[in-house]
Amino acid sequence: MELRVLGCSGGIGGAAQRTTALLLDRDILIDAGSGVGDLSMDALCRIDHVCLTHAHLDHIAFLPLLVDTVAGMRQTPLTVHAPAAVIEALQRHVFNGTIWPDFSRLPTTDAPFMRYRELSLGQVLRLGERTILPLPVDHSVPAAAYRIDSGQASLVFSGDTGPCDAFWQAVNAIDNLRILIIECAFPDRERDLAVLSKHFCPSMLADGLAKLERACDLYITHLKPGQAEATLAEVESCLGHLAPRRLSNGLVLTF
Ligand SMILES: [Zn+2]
Ligand SMILES: [Zn+2]
Repeated sequence: MELRVLGCSGGIGGAAQRTTALLLDRDILIDAGSGVGDLSMDALCRIDHVCLTHAHLDHIAFLPLLVDTVAGMRQTPLTVHAPAAVIEALQRHVFNGTIWPDFSRLPTTDAPFMRYRELSLGQVLRLGERTILPLPVDHSVPAAAYRIDSGQASLVFSGDTGPCDAFWQAVNAIDNLRILIIECAFPDRERDLAVLSKHFCPSMLADGLAKLERACDLYITHLKPGQAEATLAEVESCLGHLAPRRLSNGLVLTF
């Protein structure tokens, strides 16, 4: 399996800053932030599934535009997989007929442009040889992390989260864990904001990673533009022994 990073920033600003979107092989999108906007029309049309970690705008901003753009070129509905509360938020606040059309009922309820599929914790989504499993996290709105298992190895993407023991327990139970992508949205001087918004800052992330019992490649994501270098320097100073790397646009992870 291949995971291509389309966007991994906590904000926007030039070609280097795109919000969260990861392309799994060619047909599965994990979150639909502004990174989706760099894909060619051809690549957009190949996306059959979108798995969402949560409904915050930086993770769904380009979903409405994606559905609208490819709708006329697809034979089957685009399938959006997410926890029930995330689907409810999309229905109520985005695809509500005011902000954007309800494409789960259009052009007809029998053959809509998109459809929702609820993913609960512990429930495996199988797509061919590949499996995707939601894991628990603790963010300011209902959210999930995802374990993506190629059959050879697993990659875990945290989405957005603050401290969460259940997350580390779930990660420790993955015997073929190879890659962990975890967020660190704020520098330590904004620790209060990180606590309030249920994100990590480096010192909190170090406390969390102290609970990790498995060796893996560690990537840091969701850095705020303008604070990325400072945050990374703090990550390096408290987590240097784990050789953390910065997730970057265009990076392809194979597992
Ligand atoms: Zn969020
Ligand atoms: Zn976010």
